[in-house]
Formats: sequence, C-alpha cells, structure tokens
Amino acid sequence: MTSLSPAGGLYCHIPFCDRKCPYCGFYSIAGRRLMPDFLDAIKMEAMLYQKGVTLYHDFEQHQGFSDETPMGLRFAKGNENTQRRFSSETHTKPRSTKVNEDARWRFSIKNIKSFYGEKTWQFDTLYLGGGTPSLLNSAQIEDLLLHLKSCFPFTSDAEVTMEANPGDLSSKYAEALLRSGINRLNIGIQSFDPANLVLLCRRHTAEDAKDSIKMARAAGFSNIGIDLIYGLPGQTVESWMDDLNKAIDMATEHISCYQLTIEEGTVFGRRLKQGRLTPLPDEYRGYEFFVATSMRLEQAGYCHYEVSNFARDKSLRSRHNIKYWRHMPYLGLGPSAHSFAGMPFLMTPKSPSSPGSSGQSFIGGKRWWNYRSVKMYCNAIKDGKFPIEGGEDLTKDAVRLESLYFAFRTRHGLDMEIFREKFGQDLRKEPAGVLSSLEKQGRVDVDGERIRPTLEGMAVADAMAPLF
Ligand code: SF4
Repeated sequence: MTSLSPAGGLYCHIPFCDRKCPYCGFYSIAGRRLMPDFLDAIKMEAMLYQKGVTLYHDFEQHQGFSDETPMGLRFAKGNENTQRRFSSETHTKPRSTKVNEDARWRFSIKNIKSFYGEKTWQFDTLYLGGGTPSLLNSAQIEDLLLHLKSCFPFTSDAEVTMEANPGDLSSKYAEALLRSGINRLNIGIQSFDPANLVLLCRRHTAEDAKDSIKMARAAGFSNIGIDLIYGLPGQTVESWMDDLNKAIDMATEHISCYQLTIEEGTVFGRRLKQGRLTPLPDEYRGYEFFVATSMRLEQAGYCHYEVSNFARDKSLRSRHNIKYWRHMPYLGLGPSAHSFAGMPFLMTPKSPSSPGSSGQSFIGGKRWWNYRSVKMYCNAIKDGKFPIEGGEDLTKDAVRLESLYFAFRTRHGLDMEIFREKFGQDLRKEPAGVLSSLEKQGRVDVDGERIRPTLEGMAVADAMAPLF
C-alpha cells in the first residue's frame, strides 16, 4: 500500500522578462515570442514526471547527447496507470558543489523511489520564479496551476508563491492570482528610491512599488514578501537605511535584502571592467551594510533567519527556500531549473526510519538541471525527451559539506548529534580546535548540541564551512 512521503517543493522557472536588467545573472530572455511554446512545454514536462519514467544518462558514453542516445527516456514498465509520483526540488542558482560531473552518472526515478519505499510523493510548496512570472496573464497562471495540481498531489496547506514585478500588478490581476491559488506574492521592489531604480534600469517607479504592495494587500494577500538590493554604486549606509525604512513602513511579512554583486557577462560587469561604473562598497563597507540591515530589521520585529532573508514570524519564513537549505527534495520545471532528490533528511537519530524497505543507510543525493536555452528546452520536450542538460551524484561528503554551508547561512544552524549520526564526524573534536576557535571569535554560538552562526558568523558563512 502506498503512503504519502514527506512533502517536497515544486519550482517552475518562467524565463521571460520585458528586458534584461544590467546586473542580472539569472537565466532570462527579453521578449515573449516563445511564451506559447514554453507554456505547452512546461505542462508536458510536468506530465513526463507524473507518468513515472526511467531516465538514463551516462556522461561517459553519451557525451554530446547524440540522436541515438540522448537523454534517454523510457517509460517504466507497467506503471503508467499507477501515476507514480515523487518529489524533488529545483532552483536555478549556481551549484555550490560540483561532484562527479564528468563521471559516469545514472539517474533513475525508479531507483530514487526505491530509496524511499513505496510512497507517493506530495508537494507542500510551489514557487513560480523567474524571469518575470507576472508577464503571464491571470488566465495563463490559472491554467498552469490547474495543470500542475492535476499532475501532482499537493498538501491542502501548500505555500504557493509567485514572483511579481511591481509594474505588472493591478488590483484585478492581484485578485485573480489569489483566486487561482497563489497565496504568497514576492514582489521585486529592489528599491523605493527613484534614483536607484533608474540606476538599476527597472521599469517600475517608486510609486508603482508602494502601490503594488497596497493593491496586493487590498486584494486579500496576507503573505507578501519583497526583494530589495543594497550596496549599489555610490550608495551609503545612511541612504540605504532611508530606503529600508520605507520598506519597513509597508509592513510586509517577509523581506529579502540582497547585496549587489557584479557578475561577469552582465552589463554592469562590462561597465566595471571599462571603468564606467562606480565600484561597489568594499568588503569592510559591505559588512557595515550587512550589520546595519540586520539590526534595523530585527529592531523592526523581523527575524533574520538566513543571510539575505527576514520574516515577521517563524510561520512566515519562505517554506520553499528552506527546502533548498535543508536538502529537502525539490523538482524544478522549466529552462535552467534544478532538481534534487536525496534522503539525508530522513536519516536522523530523532527520525531513525530507514529509507525504503531495504533498510540501506544511503546518504547522498542526485541533482540534475535543465537546458538553459528556451529553444533547446522546448525542442527536447517536443521530441518526448526530458530537457535535462546534466546531473551529478552527490556523495556523502558533498552532502556533508553542503550541510555545513547551509547551516552557517541560517539561524537554524545545525544539530551536532544529527550531524554525527549522518556523517560520522564529531564537530566538537574534528578538526581539533576549530569549533572552539570559531566560538571564541564570536562567529558561532554553541548551545547544547546546536551550533548557530552569530551575525558576524553569517557575514562570513561561506568561509566557515571549509574549515571542517
Ligand atoms: S526582471 Fe529579474 S530576472 Fe528579469 S532581468 Fe531583471 S533582475 Fe533579471
């Protein structure tokens, strides 16, 4: 008899933007010409996963994805009626660890299923990200959500988030989104300062930014998040605090504050190289921005629960993003989307159930990602193939290292007892003196079995993990 698994996250990448912002390193394309093909393709992709298939990929033998043996897709015998479902997760950000990428790599949904046993997977989060999902009209959103819900089981209390551009939101649109099942809006405000919006080449104004939040609220959204960017060329901590205060006045449930980084291949990257962009704040000034942001938002009642994320309440943290940071499974649909299936989260002394029926103690995972190009993505699906560009096996050690990276980025930190059970490493002793030294430097707090990064620790989170 099948039972429900722990819930995973479903991500859909909507890769269209009206135009490319000069600082953006995410995969998106300007214009909507390919949107109809894309919408057909993403719905097909959901159906491919729904049907229960065996994916086969072997980097050694089939590099180049020839016509004979491209990402092979074979329907698993006899399971088309069982509607086998599994859950994994996806995002489109760069992977922090690359493992076995050029080694023999095989991926089988059937195998993953065997890790977990005969369980039917369900999702408790859905995230429409981009790109600019709000370029889709409300009928397209509704159609997509209905389709996804017909393909996969969702829990009744699923968090359903959509990213929106302030300029796209009208009262009617916001009401329609709520009716279609979106219950959390994440609005890409970036700044309430008109000069910053011009610098970032955003197509919305500061008035649009405020109006969009008010309209979403009036439409009935009770869970609204906003994205802000700081550390802009020439920006001071004082002017950033003015901006942040305007955000606090809007009383949204969630605020993400990202420090601007200049990425190669972007317009800002080229301008910086050519000396046509005022350099960003240096590391020390960057730290001042980070600390001031945290202190101001904590003072205003927000909990700083991840390096860039703040929530008014524990229940208002992004449930979907937390899956990425805890190795929960996620399935990503759409160009450049990433997926992850693993099971280390099941292997804890507090939850000692062994995976599947075999009782094996596998710790690791599989991550795979789709073609970035919308055309390649759509063409693969038209040919009845999964649009997967590559994948990697995550070894136990890779999962160990990622766990440390994630733990030092979040207030939740990590439980040393669980860590020891999973990875056989006692962080108090191995490597000798590292934990106590970080504690003395004020970078972590140790409370019983739990290690939590301090604010200073979160600021240098990525430098701490490799020490272990
Ligand atoms: S709207 Fe967002 S995803 Fe699109 S180009 Fe601008 S920053 Fe990138």
